[in-house]
Amino acid sequence: MTDIMLSKSLAVFPGSFDPLTRGHMDIVTRALGLFSQVTVAVLDNPDKKTLFTLDERVELVRDSFKDFGESVRVERFRGLLVDFMKKSGAGVIIRGLRAITDYDYEAQMALMNKHLCQDIETVFLVTSEEYSYISSSLVRQVASLGGDISNLVSPVVMEALRNKF
Ligand code: ADP
Repeated sequence: MTDIMLSKSLAVFPGSFDPLTRGHMDIVTRALGLFSQVTVAVLDNPDKKTLFTLDERVELVRDSFKDFGESVRVERFRGLLVDFMKKSGAGVIIRGLRAITDYDYEAQMALMNKHLCQDIETVFLVTSEEYSYISSSLVRQVASLGGDISNLVSPVVMEALRNKF
């Protein structure tokens, strides 16, 4: 037990978002049907090499969700996710599951987070079929080779990728 109150109607969707894809956006949109507010928490991990800087990743998420109002918040976090959750008062972690290959790693993370904080639940949303093949790494790769990614990312992300390559 912890002595703080974590709200089960506040969810956090953590990730690298390097960059945000339509797969991520689909998870957030569907999570909003279950929770009153979703915070997209962009990971600040100096050890992980990313194409977009932390500021760029945060800005792209913010711009992509600009029409969603107060229901979608965008924050950055560093260190333990459970510490960020405790600070923000959110009691639910959202993760997306694309294929069974995601499961082992995701289950391990969920169990570890449970071990670190009993009051936090992880909820998995299964990806929509049309987005199940999309990953940030594939989007980066296809964009770098000049492939069409217009259906895979928001217009602001597409523009940002065009400027990178
Ligand atoms: P991480 O480095 O934490 O895996 P990502 O930005 O790659 O960060 O992914 C964040 C979350 O989004 C993960 O739960 C991942 O499974 C989910 N996700 C990624 N791509 C998709 C997709 N196409 N459909 C649904 N969920 C996705």
